[in-house]
Amino acid sequence: MSFKASIITLFPDMFPGSLGSSLAGNALEAGIWTLETADLRAFGKGKHRQVDDTPAGGGAGMILKPDVLADAIDSVSTGSDVRPRLLMSPRGRVLDQAYARELADGPGAVIVCGRFEGVDDRVIEARNLHEVSIGDYILSGGEPAAIVLLDAVIRLLPGVMGNEDSGLNESFEKGLLEHPHYTRPQSFEGREIPEELTSGNHGKVDQWRLEQAEKLTREKRPDILERHTTKNGKKES
Ligand code: SAH
Repeated sequence: MSFKASIITLFPDMFPGSLGSSLAGNALEAGIWTLETADLRAFGKGKHRQVDDTPAGGGAGMILKPDVLADAIDSVSTGSDVRPRLLMSPRGRVLDQAYARELADGPGAVIVCGRFEGVDDRVIEARNLHEVSIGDYILSGGEPAAIVLLDAVIRLLPGVMGNEDSGLNESFEKGLLEHPHYTRPQSFEGREIPEELTSGNHGKVDQWRLEQAEKLTREKRPDILERHTTKNGKKES
C-alpha cells in the first residue's frame, strides 16, 4: 500500500512542485506515494465561488470559510479514512524527525493548507484537524509547509532512499547532529581530510565520528544534546 497524500489548497499548481523531482519525484513515479489535490476554489460558494470572508469582530485580512473547507476535506476523506488530517499552522506541533517517522509509518495524510489570515477555527474541531507547524515564522500560505513536511516524510518511506541505512545515521535520528563529511580530493586548498578517516581502521573512524557528532551538537545545538543525554540515562537516572 502506498502512502497517499491529499492536499486541500487554493493553489493546486504548487504541487507536486519540488516533490516532482529527485528522490520524491522518482518515488512518485514508482507509486511509492501518491498525490491528490483538492482545489478549494471548486468548493467555493455562489457565482464567485467565494472561499473566504471578513473576520468576525473586525480586523485585517480574510478567513477561509469553514463550510468550504469542510466540503473540500469531505471530498478527499470519508468516514472510513484512517489517515491523519493535518492543518499546516504556525501554532501547531512543530514538525521534527520523530513526527516525520510517525507519519511515514502510517497510510498517508490529508493536508489542509491555510491562506490569508488563516482558517475559521470551528473547522479544526469539526473535522478533527491536527495543527502542524514547520517553525516559528509566518509563511504566506500552508503550501510550502506541506511540501516541507511531505519531503521529510517521503524520503523515509521504504524503497525511497537507495541505502536503507543512510537515514538512520542522520542528524536528529540519534539525538545528535551528524558528524562532518569529507570526500576527495585528499587536499583541498591546503586543507586535509582528517587522518582518522583515512586510517582504514573502522573502529577508529566510528569513534571519531561519534566524538565529532557530540562536539558539533554541543557547539551548535546544545538543546538537542540535552535530550540525547537525558534519554541515554547519563543525566537523569
Ligand atoms: N494569521 C496567522 C498566520 C496566517 S499565515 C497567525 O498570525 O498565526 C497563512 C497560512 O500559512 C496559515 O493558515 C498556515 O496554513 C500557513 N503557515 C504560515 N506559517 C506557517 C508555519 N510556520 N507552519 C505551517 N504553516 C504555516
